[in-house]
Amino acid sequence: MCCILFVSASTMSNGQQTYFQKGFNLKAVVRPVLAQSYHSQVVERLKGLGYAARAGEVKVKLAREFGFCYGVDRAVEYAYEAREQFPDRRIYLSGEIIHNPEVNGRIEALGIRILADHKLPVERYASVEKADVVILPAFGVSVSELQHLREKGCVLVDTTCGSVLNVWKNVIRYARDGFTSVIHGKHYHEETKATASQALTHPGGHFLCVKDRPEAELVCDFIRGKVQAGAIVERFPEATSPGFDPERDLQKIGLANQTTMLMTESLEIQELLRAAMRERWGEAGLADRFRAFDTICSATQDRQDAVLKMLGEGGLDVMVVIGGYNSSNTQALTRICAERLPTFHISGADRIEGESIRHRPVGGPGETTSSRWLPEGPVTVGLTAGASTPNNVVGEVVERILALRGRRADELVAGE
Ligand code: SF4
Repeated sequence: MCCILFVSASTMSNGQQTYFQKGFNLKAVVRPVLAQSYHSQVVERLKGLGYAARAGEVKVKLAREFGFCYGVDRAVEYAYEAREQFPDRRIYLSGEIIHNPEVNGRIEALGIRILADHKLPVERYASVEKADVVILPAFGVSVSELQHLREKGCVLVDTTCGSVLNVWKNVIRYARDGFTSVIHGKHYHEETKATASQALTHPGGHFLCVKDRPEAELVCDFIRGKVQAGAIVERFPEATSPGFDPERDLQKIGLANQTTMLMTESLEIQELLRAAMRERWGEAGLADRFRAFDTICSATQDRQDAVLKMLGEGGLDVMVVIGGYNSSNTQALTRICAERLPTFHISGADRIEGESIRHRPVGGPGETTSSRWLPEGPVTVGLTAGASTPNNVVGEVVERILALRGRRADELVAGE
């Protein structure tokens, strides 16, 4: 087995440590800078008022769990610590540290260069030299990328979230036991790419990524013998392991998911595949051929639960979901809300321009503009934010919404 997960420390020939997974003990130095960059007095005020407050005829309600998760908190903190620890070195980041344009911009302003994605590690890390530092993001990187960087001998600051490592453990176990990993996730997402690569750490290991229920249903149809293998090969050209043979590789499957998918959809997909495998192999065969672990992370689940609770309490006229457009967990929150009421996924306060709002509709390819988005008269606006959205961005959005009605955040008072 490729011993990728359990590397705790490695050193150069001169005895210096080159692999860091636990930061640099510089919390006291970077915390004030982080607070200054990402803290929001408006958000603190709202929390202090019980997550619901009004100013004039505008009422704002904040989900009880929103914004930065533990994994993102840690990754951002380690990036700032790395800058302190290596003030004179070139520092690179393997892609965006998280899916938030504001945070990535601030990281770049520290002189940390974000490396664009490339199919081959040798291309992505072409400019990285042994003396450089490379930060690995919270989503993790693929096995081949990590191997490539270790061979270069550069310093690695690994911020891969513990919840992602947990998914990898399951996927490695599947591969070891001869199960193909069926991953509910977007095959092009950094985390899913990294997770899928872990399925190949044992000879004969394979993966198939399904992004939604229709794709899972097609796989079920194949398992039941309703469609031919060619339909799978055609539908998943980039979402399967090299040489994937549906006949051979879908006989024993283990489910995992990208940590930030919609929880209800992941569970539905799990049940669909379980039913198909039961039908194909019988109840007796199921235990030897089907495994499943819920690998949605607790932060994602808490944010989805909190927004469902807020929607369940009723009284909202419109919902604003804040987060990067490529943030999966923000997209999942948007899907939940959009089923219940008018919902606008925005990346930041600058998307609200008077009566117009620029937002990304559910499943849409990009941004669209809606006008007169805020109902006339007394209005209650629900708010939540994805796990990669800092509080300062949430606070700016609240201020912008209040300003539409000539109000300020310091006028907010408690109000159900
Ligand atoms: S969303 Fe979950 S898995 Fe991703 S960084 Fe946050 S806590 Fe970790």
